[in-house]
Amino acid sequence: MYKKLFIPGPVDVRPEVLKAMGTPMIGHRSKDATILQQSISEKLQQVFFTKNPILLSTSSGTGLMEGSIRSLTAKKAVVFSVGAFGNRWATLAKSNGVPVDHVKAEWGQPTLPEIVDQYLASGDYDVFTITHNETSTGIMNPTDQIAEVRKKYPEVLWLVDAVSSMGGAKIEVDKLGIDVCITSTQKAIGLPPGLSMCSVSERALEYGKQVKNRGTYLDLLELYKYVQKKPFQYPSTPSLPHMNALDLQLDYILNEEGLENRFLRHQKMAIVVREWASKNFEIFAAEGYRSNTLTTIKNTKGISVAGLNKRLGELGYMISNGYGDLKEKTFRIAHMADRTMEELVELLNIIDREMTKM
Ligand SMILES: *Cc1c(COP(=O)(O)O)cnc(C)c1O
Repeated sequence: MYKKLFIPGPVDVRPEVLKAMGTPMIGHRSKDATILQQSISEKLQQVFFTKNPILLSTSSGTGLMEGSIRSLTAKKAVVFSVGAFGNRWATLAKSNGVPVDHVKAEWGQPTLPEIVDQYLASGDYDVFTITHNETSTGIMNPTDQIAEVRKKYPEVLWLVDAVSSMGGAKIEVDKLGIDVCITSTQKAIGLPPGLSMCSVSERALEYGKQVKNRGTYLDLLELYKYVQKKPFQYPSTPSLPHMNALDLQLDYILNEEGLENRFLRHQKMAIVVREWASKNFEIFAAEGYRSNTLTTIKNTKGISVAGLNKRLGELGYMISNGYGDLKEKTFRIAHMADRTMEELVELLNIIDREMTKM
C-alpha cells in the first residue's frame, strides 16, 4: 500500500517528475545529451548559489562523498562529525586508505566553529568535512560561523555533505567558500534515488592533481574532464531518466515555486513540528541548531515508535524511527521536497489521535 512519506528520503515525487523518468532514451554521446546536462548544470548552479562547475554521478550521495574525500586528500583529512552521516565520511576515508582524523561532537550537539579553528590551526590537514544537515540527530550545523573561521585557512579544502538539505535550505556555496558541496536526488530536491550532484571549486580540481590513486568512477577530476572537454558529458553512461526528471523538477523549483518560497515552506513546517514536539515530547537537537528539513524527537513518553509507525502505515503514512542506537529512544519526522504544510498538520493530528489509544 502507498504511504505518504515523512521520512528523510526517499521522498514522495511529484507525478509529472515520475512521468519524466519514463522519457524515451537518447544517446548519451548525442548533442541532445549535452544540451540536457548543460541545462541541469546551469539550474543547479542557481540552487547551490555557485559559479563553480556542477558534476553529476550515477550513484547515491555516498558515492560523491567517497569520491571527493579520496580524490582531493593528498595529506590528511579531518572529519567533523555530529552523527551517523558525519561518521560515514570517516569510514569512507579509512576504507580508501585516506589518512583521517575523526572529531566527534556529542550527538544532538553541533560542530562548533572554535573546534574547527583549533584543528585547522595545527596545519596537519588539507581537507575538512562538515555535515550541513545531520539526518540522524536533526542538527543543522552553523555553516556561516564555520565559514568565518575557515577564512583563516583558505588553503584547506572544505567538503560539505548537504544531502538532506540542499533544495530545502539556503546554502550559498560561493559566499561560504565551500569547495565541494554534495547532495543527492531523493531528499529535499524531490526525485527518486539514484543520482548525486555536487559543485566543485577550480581550486579543488587543481589541488587534486597531486593525489595519487584517485580511483576512476568517482574521481572528481575525471568527471570534470568530461564535463569540460566533451562538453557536458560523462565518462560512463549516466542515468538519463534521472536527468530528464531533474531538469523538469529544477524548472519547478526555480520558476514555479521559487527558491526563497521553497526555503520558507521548509522553515515554516519545521517550526510547526518543533512546536508539536516540544508540547508532546522534547527535541533532540540543541536549540539554535535545528534542522529545517527534519526534526528528531526524543521519545520522552516511552511510546513504541515501531508500534506507532505500524499504525500510521495502516492509515497510509510513514515516519522514521531513530537512527542506529537512537532507535526507539527517538523518532524522526521529515518534511522534505514537496511535502506541504497541510499534509504535515494532517499527520500530526493523526499521531495525536493515535497516541491517545497507545
Ligand atoms: C541520506 C544521507 C546521506 C547518504 O546519501 P545517499 O544518497 O543515501 O548515499 C548522506 N548524508 C546525509 C546527511 C544524508 O541524509
